[in-house]
Amino acid sequence: MIPYGRQDISQSDIDAVIETLRGDWLTQGPAVPAFERDVGRYCQASYAVAANSGTSALHLAYLAADLGPGDRLWTTPITFVATANAARYCGAVVDFVDIDPVTGNMDPAALERKLAHAKQEGTLPKVVTPVHFAGLSCAMKPIAELASQYGFCIVEDACHALGGRYESDPVGCCTYSDMTVFSFHPVKIATTGEGGMVMTQREELRQRMVQLCSHGITKVREQMTGDHHGPWYYQQHELGFNYRLTDLQAALGSSQLKRLDYFISERIKRAKIYDRELTSLPLTLPGRLDSAQSAWHIYVIRLRPDQTKVTRLALFKQLREAGIGVNVHYIPVHTQPDYRRLGFQDGDFPEAERFYAQAITLPLYPTLSEVDQNHVIKSLRRALS
Ligand SMILES: *Cc1c(COP(=O)(O)O)cnc(C)c1O
Repeated sequence: MIPYGRQDISQSDIDAVIETLRGDWLTQGPAVPAFERDVGRYCQASYAVAANSGTSALHLAYLAADLGPGDRLWTTPITFVATANAARYCGAVVDFVDIDPVTGNMDPAALERKLAHAKQEGTLPKVVTPVHFAGLSCAMKPIAELASQYGFCIVEDACHALGGRYESDPVGCCTYSDMTVFSFHPVKIATTGEGGMVMTQREELRQRMVQLCSHGITKVREQMTGDHHGPWYYQQHELGFNYRLTDLQAALGSSQLKRLDYFISERIKRAKIYDRELTSLPLTLPGRLDSAQSAWHIYVIRLRPDQTKVTRLALFKQLREAGIGVNVHYIPVHTQPDYRRLGFQDGDFPEAERFYAQAITLPLYPTLSEVDQNHVIKSLRRALS
């Protein structure tokens, strides 16, 4: 089966992990801060805090934004459940903003309308989390303008978008946000097995996340209260977690990062081939934004029901039978049983629901061979003509 995404592990990646295994630190050693510096430099962000998953990185970012019980967080329904779940870990109330059907990203116009309404009702969000769906950055500038008008914090969920760009900046530099979150799961752009990271330009957010990532404990003397007992001393200042990334993982991450630009160019190349070869089919192809370069985490096509009688289910099954591991991104979060229990219903976010009903994710990754990609294209043509 040709998967929809997969990691690309080189001999140098393997060597980097083995070197760590032979060294003194499997965790809490020098590889984690080195990985944070590497990603920070790539993204032009002053600070980076590594975590053991994208989900825990989101949780740390939300806590650093002071999201707590009764606060509101808004995101998009077209995302992985983790974006919203991490807000519920904080006791916050989650709500959604519908998408722009061209890009699949949160629609800034829908956000503006919802904010104006929420202001009247006294239900403004504390945090808004735009998700860079498929690797394409949201239009961050208008969202940042709304943030200064309405006073919310922006956390970019860039789990798909490491290596992507918005305007002339790398995603992660936080020009238009407070924090940006990455995931290093194997299907994402670069991997550490499991892993995540939060980027920020704000020192006080970094400090809070570092503390929360390791039990709420600090070993920094200047941050302590009262007497300092001796060199062994540490203080717990709040209830934190063990969300630490290991050195084994960080060594893999730093090694992967050396090939990040290569990964992106290989993904762009294959996306362009799909763009060219699929244009005449009854499909909506991934949308573009003039101001952004996608990292092309996934390539999502949508069936056009006005142009074909083939259903999404039938096409999906036919492609799977042809050995193509297609997938669907995403089941709108608000339609999950656990979110329906919170009061959400079908019809709440019609663009997101329509997007889901038509979407199929095709294989896209740096090692996808020409033969395999041609097989995907031919199978689609056969199914749709
Ligand atoms: C993968 C992903 C996450 C969660 O990351 P993990 O590393 O799997 O915990 C969150 N948001 C989005 C959009 C993702 O794709």
